[in-house]
Amino acid sequence: MKDKVLSAIHSIIEEGKEKGLLGELDDIVAKNSLFNIFQIEDNEGEGYKKYDGMEALEVLYQYDDLDLPFEKFVSRIMGEITPRNSEIIDKFYYYLKRGESQKAIDWYYKLCQDTRYIRMDRVNMNRKWKYSSKYGDIEITINLSKPEKDPRDIGKARNGQSNTYPKCVLCKENIGYKGRPGHPERSNHRIIPIKLNNEKWYLQFSPYVYYNQHLIVLSHDHVPMLIDHRTIIRLLDFIDMFPDLFLGSNAGLPIVGGSILDHNHFQGGNHVFPIERANIFERIDKGKYQIDILDWPVSTIRITSKDREVLTKKAAKIMDAWDYYENRELEILPFTKEEKHNTTTLIARKEEDKYHLYISLRNNRCNEEYPYGIFHAREEHHHIKKENIGLIEVMGLAILPGRLHRELEYIKNILLYNKDMEEEGPHKNWVYQLKEEYQGKISSQNIDSIIKEEVGKVFVNILEDCGVFKRADYDKFKEFVYSCIE
Ligand SMILES: [Zn+2]
Repeated sequence: MKDKVLSAIHSIIEEGKEKGLLGELDDIVAKNSLFNIFQIEDNEGEGYKKYDGMEALEVLYQYDDLDLPFEKFVSRIMGEITPRNSEIIDKFYYYLKRGESQKAIDWYYKLCQDTRYIRMDRVNMNRKWKYSSKYGDIEITINLSKPEKDPRDIGKARNGQSNTYPKCVLCKENIGYKGRPGHPERSNHRIIPIKLNNEKWYLQFSPYVYYNQHLIVLSHDHVPMLIDHRTIIRLLDFIDMFPDLFLGSNAGLPIVGGSILDHNHFQGGNHVFPIERANIFERIDKGKYQIDILDWPVSTIRITSKDREVLTKKAAKIMDAWDYYENRELEILPFTKEEKHNTTTLIARKEEDKYHLYISLRNNRCNEEYPYGIFHAREEHHHIKKENIGLIEVMGLAILPGRLHRELEYIKNILLYNKDMEEEGPHKNWVYQLKEEYQGKISSQNIDSIIKEEVGKVFVNILEDCGVFKRADYDKFKEFVYSCIE
């Protein structure tokens, strides 16, 4: 046993040195910490076996007394070979000051994978495909990288440990945090301070990277999501600093916002999304700036200008106008009693010397007919996704829940062998429809593509559900946009 543990520790230390996580003498410090965790008192072993990557961690996991779920164990061990936060900031800013912002991002991204804060072994399990829709190619991902809740964690959480530090999973206090039941361990997590709109923000990657270099920018304080004119400036400051990346903000209201509303944050990264290739329904060219009404299921306006000030002013005007826009015929009510319903999702992108700002118009009102939201996924589509449609999905990348992986396999079997569904499940009506539609046309050759196609169809329907101006209401949409331009 001791030989195996020693070998695994040495393998991790060697890897840390090779990848530049450990500098001069750091290897001894790290080794001593790991010896302490595994109660090893001397270095004597019968020659070492070299383990690769995750293998070393899996070996150690068999011999530890930490009683942690594997996810947390990986973070705890890798935390011992993760550089100090200030060292990472120094290196990042070394590139940034030389004007090599993308090099800074690339280096930090690789570091986060090397420390296994980003578990590429899990991310690579995600299933991805494209669905060709009337709005262009839509991207679909079934997310298998987010760990399922560990029963031990759930048990411990029930034992009444309630803690408010860190206040949420985004707070800066998560760096180096040892975790608690129901809250991830972040021993190997480090963040980068940046200035946006002259305020302090922090940059980090999402541990579950849904697309290349999926990053999060979080506010210094634990304050709720809020979209206002300052959001535009913050997003533009960011793309000025990192011109190869995009940055967007979810709305600050439930139903139409992201999954975390209590900590102000943005999401960005290095990926071109389907919305950026959308057809243009109407282009208004004003010389200094352009406004495009996109042919996109979630009602979206794109403003383009070389002039930041002009773009900011126009965007602010559209956001303000939308806040008060009312159209009873289309069920768009900006307020009920004191509650605000209209809001926006914003996405900023730089292309050479041009700025693009995408403004998606959102409304989160519910009524008796649509208790989940009038402009939210309809109930008949909840079997594919019922969570909020945030900015990533608005841009045309579906992040579908991991449960679908198993469920779709089961459905394929039903369709292929024309079996009956054994139980009442959320997919029952959908499967019934598919059986009718594809009667006699399903084979083991085409079943995969049929399912992929049909999931894509439902996702596009969900996006259409979220649109405040449906395709048939484009006249009203145009009217609104023209009313914002003098
Ligand atoms: Zn927080």
